[in-house]
Amino acid sequence: MLGNRTGRVTASMTQEVSLEAERLRRQGIDVVDLGAGEPEFPTPLHVKSAGVSAISEDRTKYTTNAGIYELRQAICDRYLADYGVTYDVSEVIVSAGGKQALFNVAMALCNPGDEVLTHAPGWPSIVEQVKLADATPVIVRTHAEDGFALRASSVIDLLTPRTKVIVINSPGNPTGALVSERELSVVAEAVARRGIWIVLDLCYEQLIYDGTPHNLPKVLDARVRDRAVLVGSVSKSYAMTGWRCGWAIGPASLVAACNAVQSHTTSNVSSISQHASIAALSGSQECVFEMREAYRSRRDQLLDWLESEPRIRCVRPGGAFYLFPEVSELLSPDRLRSSAEFAEALLREGHVAVTAGEAFDTPGFVRLSYAASLDRLREGVDRIHNFISDLDNGRIRPATTST
Ligand code: GLU
Repeated sequence: MLGNRTGRVTASMTQEVSLEAERLRRQGIDVVDLGAGEPEFPTPLHVKSAGVSAISEDRTKYTTNAGIYELRQAICDRYLADYGVTYDVSEVIVSAGGKQALFNVAMALCNPGDEVLTHAPGWPSIVEQVKLADATPVIVRTHAEDGFALRASSVIDLLTPRTKVIVINSPGNPTGALVSERELSVVAEAVARRGIWIVLDLCYEQLIYDGTPHNLPKVLDARVRDRAVLVGSVSKSYAMTGWRCGWAIGPASLVAACNAVQSHTTSNVSSISQHASIAALSGSQECVFEMREAYRSRRDQLLDWLESEPRIRCVRPGGAFYLFPEVSELLSPDRLRSSAEFAEALLREGHVAVTAGEAFDTPGFVRLSYAASLDRLREGVDRIHNFISDLDNGRIRPATTST
């Protein structure tokens, strides 16, 4: 028998889509992959070179568990430059992506019976990590008709004496919605004297498209500095998903606890990745601006193309690189009954990978990543339109009833 903990968690559905797309590709099928949440851009050259130099110069041994001093300093410098918040190196731990940083924080903060508030539609790992840490997730719903905006009042309504942590992801995965400075400041003021932690997942922080003010670190710094945690990563900003390098920034005592957890699990992030990340964070940020501009135009283009089918309705996202359209008008009891069946059939018959809304606790929707090239996006949309016309003509059935 497996341990009880394994019964409480499910494998990451966001990762499973990529696996399935990969399986079809290995059979020689040309899949347009709009499922994976990762940039198709290569890692910038100067960043790759820093990784190569780390190898050739033998910087390939263990590093300090919490990360190379220079990298932690580069992270502090980045947040000072970008947000005007001052942190010391002792308040930073480098982990294997934002995912491990969030996991360490959950392990360091949660006790059985604690409640952790987070929002849905949301990235599934946040909820699963809370369960792994023996705490209870409490979900604040956001809604398409309200642009998936997180309202402070909805958060405050769900606070109880057991609330220990609030985890906020902005820009959000899968909606691309931004949490407003004003709403966050209302939440921060409400929890300031209640000992509740606010964890801000900023993994898409460099991908904000319309100049919307988003200085959430400063909002927390001014109100709940001693209970605020910032989580970030080089993955999306610098097209470095495979390098596995992220961080948590927060009070030194919390960072020390995260360090203890990490010291017994993975130890330091690969030394090579850390050296590359120093180059990413402290080198020219021109590459970030260029990629952001490319994503912005892909967002606009993809929205235009998709919305030529009036039954697909989509909120215009302010950040990240996902569209999260509603597809419920395309579902019906005698054809595809759910967005999970829709996504499965679209991959099987239309050879386009998207992630079903069920992965984000929001059936009726699908997530499309526009971190793919414009050509592939165009091809993907053409295939989606053809798939819908096959669906209308009764040529598509769920896997279980297909022959
Ligand atoms: N964060 C990415 C996504 O949502 C990668 C998959 C994962 O690690 O969950 O697609």
